[in-house]
Amino acid sequence: MAHLVNYIYIVSAALFILSLKWMNSPATARRGVFSGEIGMLMAIAGTLLAHQVFNWQWIFAAFLIGTAVGIPIAYIMPMTAVPQRTAMSHACGALAAALVGTAEFYREPNQPKYILVALMIETLLGFLTFTGSLMAMGKLQEVLPQRPITYRNQNFINLGLFALAAALGVRLILVPTDTWIFPVFAGLALVFGVLLIIPIGGADMPTVIALLNSYAGLSACAMGFVLDNKLLVIAGALDGSSGLILSIIMCKAMNRSFANVLFGAFGQLQTKAGHAEQRPVRSASAEEAASILEASSSVIIAPGYGLAVAQAQHKIRELFDALMRRGVDVKFAIHPVAGRMPGHMNVLLAEADIPYDRLYGMEDINSEFAQCDVALVIGANDVTNPVARYDKSSPIYGMPILDVDKARSVMVIKRSMRPGFAGIDNDLYYLDKTLMLFGDAKAFVTEILKELPVLAAPTV
Ligand code: NAP
Repeated sequence: MAHLVNYIYIVSAALFILSLKWMNSPATARRGVFSGEIGMLMAIAGTLLAHQVFNWQWIFAAFLIGTAVGIPIAYIMPMTAVPQRTAMSHACGALAAALVGTAEFYREPNQPKYILVALMIETLLGFLTFTGSLMAMGKLQEVLPQRPITYRNQNFINLGLFALAAALGVRLILVPTDTWIFPVFAGLALVFGVLLIIPIGGADMPTVIALLNSYAGLSACAMGFVLDNKLLVIAGALDGSSGLILSIIMCKAMNRSFANVLFGAFGQLQTKAGHAEQRPVRSASAEEAASILEASSSVIIAPGYGLAVAQAQHKIRELFDALMRRGVDVKFAIHPVAGRMPGHMNVLLAEADIPYDRLYGMEDINSEFAQCDVALVIGANDVTNPVARYDKSSPIYGMPILDVDKARSVMVIKRSMRPGFAGIDNDLYYLDKTLMLFGDAKAFVTEILKELPVLAAPTV
């Protein structure tokens, strides 16, 4: 039986690795999800086979409760709420790891030292990730204030608290029979999770969630050592490292450092917004926009967070079809941090079956803007803001952007002159070549579509 379980674990680990690989591209992402699911099913089956003696009724009850909660959440939660749903998953995973560690500790405090080291890491990371993820979820759901909450000597207090928890963990490793210390250790880890997230603005939560994902993975990896389960070590390490890589990619795409995200209190800048609203902008109607689009030979669409809010992806697909049918070359420019989570735009556009080969990453498309007739910005703001190139005082200075301002003309669909995520005005809107198309993305594109057949009629 032990051999069979080992084989199951090897296949399962391979499926997890392939799953991550396949999720790298929209074309293979579904296969990636499926192989991850099969891998997890095999991992559970293998573990049940390996431990023949257990209480079936508890496992079955947990399975039923998890399914009853998980399935409705998957359907009810809108796409825009995926970051907070992910935070909730991490909170649950981390709590599970921390509770398993706690149970193991009380079951047998006198374990080999290396097991105790893993157990302390597991519980410390598990408990802090639990409360940290709940805080992140609360901020994203706007149940908690989005603003960074800061006070004097905050970093010093936080680090002091973490150091105290770590010191108690060391003490427990050295003298495990001092079991009374464990609740204090766990309590400090829980409080540290809250304090870690308080000074971070709601806007930075997606990056923080990727980091918390990494902590939850490392906690699970340590749990693998405690339970002597090799698959858990592999899966936890994959989870931990992929979360870390993701947060590094996000920081790079925003030109921010980890320290700036964790300690920079980004998001306290809203007062700057509105300064430049006195500057004149040119606006246009759906009818005018339709005629410009139809007269052009190449259009690059730059989608952003507003597309997700408006759920305009299906209408954009119709616009894409309508223009392509008229011989207009339409491409999509995808900024790595457009929207509020990695791959946000890819997922939305894939939902509307927009062909993958029409989706271009920032590096690939930026050189094409100069030759394109119209850059159509739909619900994107920061990722198109040219101040990132020249205004050193701007919070987005240095962030790579989509070069939409280099196109022959620019049209921007958004509801108002309100700023986006970074809370700053966008110089793009004041260029002579820019036309503002004020309105909800879905409603405005629908209006443009109504105009297109009428305009097209004489040429057919
Ligand atoms: P953005 O800068 O937040 O701007 C979105 C714009 O969409 C807003 O200015 C808003 O203007 C407009 N909008 C909202 N609802 C709309 C609707 N129904 N119809 C039309 N427009 C609508 O978004 P972005 O350009 O996609 O940039 C993403 C930002 O998020 C970046 O600053 C990035 O650093 C940050 N971020 C991204 C991630 C990630 O993983 N993707 C993670 C963390 C942070 P109105 O209110 O005037 O309509």
